Amino acid sequence: MMPTFAQYHAELQALSNRMTVYLDRMEARAREFGAQAKQTAAELQATDPNSVATFRMEIHRQIMFLHTKAERAYEQYISPYEDLEDDDDLSMDEFRVLRNLTEDIEHEVDSFEDRMDAVIEDIFAAGQANQTRQEWDRAIAEWRAAQSSFTCSQCGAPVALPELYHVAVYVTCGGCGSRVTFQPSEAMRAAPRWAEELADAECADLKRTYEAGHEGGGGMDFVSYVYYLTSQFRVLSRLLPFYARSLAPQMPGKIRAAWEDNTDQLTPHEVSPRHYETEYLNVMGNIGVTAMGMRASGHTEHLALILGVVRDVMRPGDPLAQSILDGTFTEEMWDRRQAAADRMSDAVPR
Ligand SMILES: [Zn+2]
Repeated sequence: MMPTFAQYHAELQALSNRMTVYLDRMEARAREFGAQAKQTAAELQATDPNSVATFRMEIHRQIMFLHTKAERAYEQYISPYEDLEDDDDLSMDEFRVLRNLTEDIEHEVDSFEDRMDAVIEDIFAAGQANQTRQEWDRAIAEWRAAQSSFTCSQCGAPVALPELYHVAVYVTCGGCGSRVTFQPSEAMRAAPRWAEELADAECADLKRTYEAGHEGGGGMDFVSYVYYLTSQFRVLSRLLPFYARSLAPQMPGKIRAAWEDNTDQLTPHEVSPRHYETEYLNVMGNIGVTAMGMRASGHTEHLALILGVVRDVMRPGDPLAQSILDGTFTEEMWDRRQAAADRMSDAVPR
């Protein structure tokens, strides 16, 4: 006799639990292995940094084999349940319930790859941070050396290099007025990569907050992204102003993409009027409070970035957004607008 739906369901539940235990045990094993590898990685970083990449590939291969094992376990024990559609004793609804279970397990196995990636990251994190710092220091040292040695090809006078240029640039000789080409060294060309990593490390908490996401969203994911992006850009501007200025034109595009990805503001017909309004007010209200604080404490550069975001996403002529730009925003204005939003319909248009 063919198993019933209840039997299939119980079997899959049991397999799901076993898979969870199996994956947890493999992760524990990977972390134990990682603790030893971490010491080796640190030693190699100190004595033979060029061999770190080869060592990392080997570690990656060994740890990712655990993910392959998990996939094989799925193939062997779970995937046969994917074909139950052919079982005439199951209704379509019953089949869907079972299919959801197998899909949940499949997702758990897929995301095991991310867990293994995190183990690998952790093994090399300290060495990576060290390398970033060393390469960055080298770029700065070579810039300083160029500052004192770079001279005009026409008249031989020293030519100032006020900023670290990561690409070839024309600079004007103060002596004879000719435009001379400065070619950055290899370390200087690589400076943006290391500056990005240093800036990301400095804004790691903000990045984590954004990546973790906010339960229910409500515009807060966008707000977190704005705080992360503008803070990271602030650090980049401090470390490598020439490079940061070259990135500035991309900021509005990044903000618009995040607005589209993290809010429902571009699809008002798909959400209720109350949700649409509340999400907008959450964004403007939170940014308004932050901008007020920045104005008060004199963080004018960061404030300018935040106000740029308000301009990028505000509804044209919206008085609340305008008050943030004018510096007249108050929490009372936000509250009044929210009270009006609370009276709006919560029904999604059909
Ligand atoms: Zn000259």
